Amino acid sequence: MVKPIRRDIFFLNQKSEPATKADAQVVTDLLDTLRANQARCVGMAANMIGVRKRIIVVNMGMMNMAMINPVITKKTGAYQTEEGCLSLEGVRPTTRYQEIEVEFLDIGWKKQKQRYSGWIAQIIQHECDHLDGIVI
Ligand SMILES: [Zn+2]
Repeated sequence: MVKPIRRDIFFLNQKSEPATKADAQVVTDLLDTLRANQARCVGMAANMIGVRKRIIVVNMGMMNMAMINPVITKKTGAYQTEEGCLSLEGVRPTTRYQEIEVEFLDIGWKKQKQRYSGWIAQIIQHECDHLDGIVI
């Protein structure tokens, strides 16, 4: 189900908790909401639809991918950039890493470990920040 986007900074500044299988509906809602906002949004974290659970969705070109309880285990190649956010106005400066390694559960709750670089790595870093209550 498509959900409204939260813009309440007090809420967005709180850390999210680990997701469990009871949160399967949140994964579906988040994918639906990303699809509905695809024209202006490339990724979302669950707290952006009002659920403080560690779930993100990322647009990977042809498809959207859900990552449950993602953890960035390696990052290399720091660079400065600017990012916008569906929950905020304008763009802000931030430091990102060119290559990252992420451990997460996929939509089938299987453990995955993947490397990403460039644009997709940047989206994942932005959404993982949301899980820690960091809004750029
Ligand atoms: Zn954001």
